Amino acid sequence: MNTTLASTPSEPPLRVMALHALLYCERLFYLEEVEEIRVADFAVYAGRRMHEELLPLDDESPERRSVEVASETWGLFGKVDAVRRRDGRWVAYEHKRGRCRRGEDNRPEAWPSDRIQAIAYAVLLAETFGEAVPEARVRYHADNVTVLIPIDELARAELQQAVDRARLLRQTTDRPPVHENERMCVRCSLAPACLPEEERWVELQHSSSQDSPTSDENHPSTISDSDVSTSEKSRPRLFPSVRQKQTLHVISPRAYVSRSADTLVVTVEDDKEKVPIEDIDSVLIHGFGQMTTQAIQLCARRGVSIQWMSTGGQFIAGTTASPGRVQQRLRQYSALSQTDTCLRLARQLIQAKVESQLRYLLRGTRGDATRRERSRSAIEGIRESLRRMHTVRSPDSLRGLEGTAARHYFSALPQLLSPSVSEALHPNGRSKHPPQDRFNALLSFGYALIYSLVHRSLLAVGLEPAFGFFHQPRSSAPPLVLDLMELFRTPLWEMVVVASVNRGQWNSEHDFIVNPGQLWLSDDGRKKAIGLFEDRLQESYRHPHTGQPLTYARMVELEARLLEKEWSGCPELFARWRMR
Ligand code: SF4
Repeated sequence: MNTTLASTPSEPPLRVMALHALLYCERLFYLEEVEEIRVADFAVYAGRRMHEELLPLDDESPERRSVEVASETWGLFGKVDAVRRRDGRWVAYEHKRGRCRRGEDNRPEAWPSDRIQAIAYAVLLAETFGEAVPEARVRYHADNVTVLIPIDELARAELQQAVDRARLLRQTTDRPPVHENERMCVRCSLAPACLPEEERWVELQHSSSQDSPTSDENHPSTISDSDVSTSEKSRPRLFPSVRQKQTLHVISPRAYVSRSADTLVVTVEDDKEKVPIEDIDSVLIHGFGQMTTQAIQLCARRGVSIQWMSTGGQFIAGTTASPGRVQQRLRQYSALSQTDTCLRLARQLIQAKVESQLRYLLRGTRGDATRRERSRSAIEGIRESLRRMHTVRSPDSLRGLEGTAARHYFSALPQLLSPSVSEALHPNGRSKHPPQDRFNALLSFGYALIYSLVHRSLLAVGLEPAFGFFHQPRSSAPPLVLDLMELFRTPLWEMVVVASVNRGQWNSEHDFIVNPGQLWLSDDGRKKAIGLFEDRLQESYRHPHTGQPLTYARMVELEARLLEKEWSGCPELFARWRMR
């Protein structure tokens, strides 16, 4: 046995499951083991349930189940599904939900990733039990086939090669390329985080631009929606268009969140609500609701973020289940230390934001000559800021143009309110910390909701929120969160506030608490605002990179992932989305 494989204190042992990922796709291994991105999707939960529920029914006489094994020599550890005694020898069993591979003459074979996993378990078992384990078996439940794998010198050599490759990849800061076989991505639980389609698309654009000197027309910044839909037709859709999980908002100050098995239990006096952990991706505690340590630990283990906000809607603190991802952070620090990169990203971002503001004003005043006339100078001012944006050479100049455009925008926003809206709900310019009127209180509360959504999206993607490219680290708010928020203020909240005010959805007495110098939303007002925000997140909009409608909830995550790709080998896709 090769003793050079022993892990050292500086080199932690590998999970056997990591070798399974390695043989499936090297990028999958890297994302999971180096960048610590783990997505427990339906298939993963179903796989766990199969081991917990189906296995005892199907497997009639296992000698031992879920046997933990480890080897310092190999630097590996894991858990074998089942171990049986056959003809006086131990055999390692691995159970799979799917079908086996078919080789020559339709002979059943184990898939390479399953094969290496079974070999590793058998080798580790032999070391743990101190006796030979000459065979491993992989049982495929979908076609009821069991594949036998002899544990011989060839198998050991395969294992050594896999471990060596895994160690090498763990040392590199470069993320491996996407798998050359697109079909592998369709079944990959990490596809929504990996975004292989986007990378292949950019590669395709680059290779076609080398082939054709005039192919600049296909640059993402100029491609039209119809162009996108045509070129995307043949691509599979791996980024889910709808959010599959929910945010649990805890609003009542009397709420108490506890844990019961894999469920969060929210108790408010005599009411109890059970929320399976599988159904949520985040918990947002508004104000003074309590949460037990057990509930916090369950969330941490399942990658569910928890955020605490003040009653007034200010972000206080949040958890992240992924403190690692050193390589990702190094790439981010390196990229965002470059002035040119920061300016380029800031220009992309602010241009998108200001264009959204302009389009909203144009849309809101269309067909109404009086409103359009009253907004004319603001609209022209915003257009002028946009024109000058292409020529700025410093972040400060860009900040100046963005500030000017914002002043014009907020001065014209009241023009979008219906004449029937009461004076109490009209804004008086933009005010914050604290907001001076009800309209601004609504804006500030919704911005806080966007803030928390963007914050957890950045953490989920593995980015450091404190290291941004446009906002300055002046307040307690992490600059990168403030940066990314700029894309979503208008479509996610300002449009919602104006529409809800015009529909008469707000009661200027019950939905607000007004004290001298302070104005914020009441419990009823917050519930209403959260309902409107969550509804908005479920609405769809067509994103140029998917070519299909995407809910706003997914769009926030997609833009966070595209931002990370700006410095991870796939640039020029961030902030290209525009409101129509
Ligand atoms: S989505 Fe495709 S390229 Fe990305 S990790 Fe999965 S298999 Fe590999």
